[in-house]
Amino acid sequence: MRITNIEAIAVDLPMLRPMKMAGVEIRVAENVLVKMVSDQGVVGWGEAASAPTMTGETVPSITTAIQLLANDLIGAEVDLATLQACMRRRLYGNSSAKAAIDMAAHDLVGRSMQKPVHELLGPLMRHSVPVLWLLGTGSEEADVLEARAKYADGFRAFKVKVGTAAIDADIRRTLVIRRALPADALVCADANQAWNVDDALRFVIGAGESLEFLEQPVDGEDIAGMAKLAAAGKTAIGCDEGLHSMADLQHHLAAAAATGGSLKAIKLGGLGTVLKAAQWCTMHDWKVNLACKIAESGIATAAVLQLGAVLPAIDWGVSLSSQYLAEDIVHNPLKIVEGRAPVPDGPGLGVEVDEARVRHYQR
Ligand SMILES: [Mg+2]
Repeated sequence: MRITNIEAIAVDLPMLRPMKMAGVEIRVAENVLVKMVSDQGVVGWGEAASAPTMTGETVPSITTAIQLLANDLIGAEVDLATLQACMRRRLYGNSSAKAAIDMAAHDLVGRSMQKPVHELLGPLMRHSVPVLWLLGTGSEEADVLEARAKYADGFRAFKVKVGTAAIDADIRRTLVIRRALPADALVCADANQAWNVDDALRFVIGAGESLEFLEQPVDGEDIAGMAKLAAAGKTAIGCDEGLHSMADLQHHLAAAAATGGSLKAIKLGGLGTVLKAAQWCTMHDWKVNLACKIAESGIATAAVLQLGAVLPAIDWGVSLSSQYLAEDIVHNPLKIVEGRAPVPDGPGLGVEVDEARVRHYQR
């Protein structure tokens, strides 16, 4: 089976409501889709959110990188085993562009074999995954109401977006949310690199013991700062913006800078690398948070669920994102039941893309 076309499609997807996190408020998801077509007429879809503060890639740069890689891939056999090496030879970095192509290739191969993508990745570990609910409305009262409502709906994992206010206000808001939820709820916080080490230490001392873990309190490159916060012993420290490769995992481990990480395809460049990173984490007694980037559509969400089916462990929950969009671009959008998302079992990623809607939102 050969690839006959690869199209990069930039889309602007409106959010249900703005998501506030440190350094950015997302009102519209600016994503790039990949539509890959084979000589047998099979179509595979992939997606990457643009997240410049996380990957350095923008919608135009992702689009250009996909077009550049497409020049080499069009006409070639679809081969998941060599795809990453082919892309690496042609282009350094650009992990989001590579992830979108890699995802489309997995969808294409799965569809042509009439198998769900998880069967291409490894043995099935679970049929559904626990979904983390993000709390970032911008108001403490609204966050508490939402947390309670989502707990009643069955959600048991919550991530508080912090770093958007003064440290004392973040500490208070985190503690108020923690107290508003029953003890069996997992509550963590994500600062998205907002703080310096001193401020982060204040937060860790003030609210750390109420949290399962604290994600990326300081700059992704400040591994020594992360280690200082981990050494405070108040809560587990997770890396996200500082984690782009297997080497980054090693660096954090060597410095005792984290005991878990947030694994995203746009940072690691593809589904296979996410799986490899998760296996590394389990082997080194690290915890895994498996995640989409706010706000990828039902396409990337389905890919995360396919990964969730095979990862050895996902103790820090799964962050999905398509539920935060005003409208999805697939015919069978994500359904969360009792706080868990079932793994789609149709061929490929298991979602049917609504191409008319894709063209409607095309930039
Ligand atoms: Mg994060």
